[in-house]
Amino acid sequence: MPTSPSHNPPDGRSGLDFDAIVIGAGLSGMYQLYRLRELGLKVRVFEAGTEVGGTWYWNRYPGARFDSESYSYGYSFSKELLEEWEWSEHFAGQPETLRYCKHVADKFDLRRDIQFRSRVTSAIYDEAGRSWTITLEDSARFSTRFLITAIGPLSTPTLPRVEGRDDFKGQSFHTARWPKEPVDFKDKRVAVIGTGATGVQTIQTIASEVGHLTVFQRTPNWCAPLHNGKIDAETQKKIKAGYGEMFARCRETFACFIHTPDPRGAFEVSDEEREAFYEKLYGEPGFGIWQGNFRDILLDRKANATISEFVARKIRSRVKDPKIAEKLIPRNHGFGTRRLPLETFYYEVYNRDNVELIDITETPIERITPDGIRAGGRDFAFDIIIFATGFDAITGAFDQIDFRGTDGVQLRDKWKRGPETYLGLMVHQFPNMMMLMGPHTALGNIPRSIEYSVDWVTALIRYAREHGLTRLEATPEGVASWTDHVKALGAGLLSNEVDSWMTGINRNVEGKTTRIVARYSGSAPAYRARCDEVAANEYRELSLA
Ligand code: NAP
Repeated sequence: MPTSPSHNPPDGRSGLDFDAIVIGAGLSGMYQLYRLRELGLKVRVFEAGTEVGGTWYWNRYPGARFDSESYSYGYSFSKELLEEWEWSEHFAGQPETLRYCKHVADKFDLRRDIQFRSRVTSAIYDEAGRSWTITLEDSARFSTRFLITAIGPLSTPTLPRVEGRDDFKGQSFHTARWPKEPVDFKDKRVAVIGTGATGVQTIQTIASEVGHLTVFQRTPNWCAPLHNGKIDAETQKKIKAGYGEMFARCRETFACFIHTPDPRGAFEVSDEEREAFYEKLYGEPGFGIWQGNFRDILLDRKANATISEFVARKIRSRVKDPKIAEKLIPRNHGFGTRRLPLETFYYEVYNRDNVELIDITETPIERITPDGIRAGGRDFAFDIIIFATGFDAITGAFDQIDFRGTDGVQLRDKWKRGPETYLGLMVHQFPNMMMLMGPHTALGNIPRSIEYSVDWVTALIRYAREHGLTRLEATPEGVASWTDHVKALGAGLLSNEVDSWMTGINRNVEGKTTRIVARYSGSAPAYRARCDEVAANEYRELSLA
């Protein structure tokens, strides 16, 4: 049964069920609800899960944890929340993060306006009413003036299109649909398919628990050590005292992390200095080696080769069997050109007797059988198969809902050849719909980006209400100009020349085999400056009525 949402007094003018509907109760949806309530709006959040937390609700696979510093990840909008919440580790695990999300929901009494177990299947714009009607899986319908998507860039899990998937008699899970009850790995023969950030965390966590682990790897990824640790009382005090400074820093850095590129180029220092710098970064916690490296490693192939070679040497030094080490070293992309998985003794896993690495480019998976997996003509028997096979990213969650704008135009159709947006926040022909963490926004350290986007959307809605506006739409010129800008920004980036979820590639999904520019890849401060300018000019770039 859905929980019972509150009944705020209706605005009495529109005859609509709600002033605003938010889809999704993850970090974006929760904060958006908080802000819209402050405006006095009648809001409802629809959430498919049974709890708040989004990513941290669904991704409860073994070893799921932050890759960015816990204290830089939490919400910054409430001093009281910052003061009372204590992260136990520098990079907190999923159970703690989910507890945090629940704590936020309790503290701000969010659940009374969130309807759980409610998956939105369609959202249709009605021009006469200047409103949206959303339909849930159970056919219930609700109307609203404003529709805000908070559906996440990595929320639509995908499975390999391999024969026999339903024949398997053992247990099988996608990491993003992990059961709430603990999975018993003792003495079990386990397969993991996929070696992205999720696969890496899963593999390193379960290797010592299982009877035998077989890792099916298609593309190795460059990984670097996380160097996690507990936060002691002294450090806790320092973190709390330094929140203001830290969030100010996150506002200035390229991608809102506490790390930002070193102003030097890789060849502006001597070979010895470069090596010493890489050694230092490899020994430090978090994304420093990715986000705080020389300014040109993600732009210049030769600069990139220096860090790739350095990390390849590290892999060779950590993996005893040279043949396996070579298999773990990426050949088709440079270091950091895909999202960097951070690891804790991941490479050492392959020194264990109970772990086998199968390179599926040599030993292709032929089919799933009732007893396991047939690959390269060999039958592997398994009790458990884990699919760490990623997501239909960025636009995938939008494709799951039938969004129809003016004249019945479908968002899926409109974005067939790649997304087209205004500031990553709005779409022409989809009036009164705002997207949080959709395509073409600055992602980076996500909660920092979320807070900015939610505040921008809230200010726009406040403006509309203060000026009696009931129709807000991005113009075709605005969309064309922003989309061109995003494409131009992505042009020189090595990461846009590589297949990954960041370039819209997912061979498990039909039609996702051509690279697109789905992400804004400029700096977060530049992104905010542009959005601020639009607000300061009273949204004149939008079509307002
Ligand atoms: P991912 O990076 O897309 O990795 C999916 C993996 O599955 C890849 O190794 C892929 O191989 C493999 N794969 C997919 N389909 C396959 C098939 N049919 N047969 C064999 N292998 C297949 O997905 P992810 O690891 O879930 O991570 C996605 C993103 O989520 C991350 O990049 C990160 O942004 C986020 N994440 C964050 C955290 C954190 O903050 N701590 C943790 C986990 C994930 P190919 O590379 O060959 O396609």
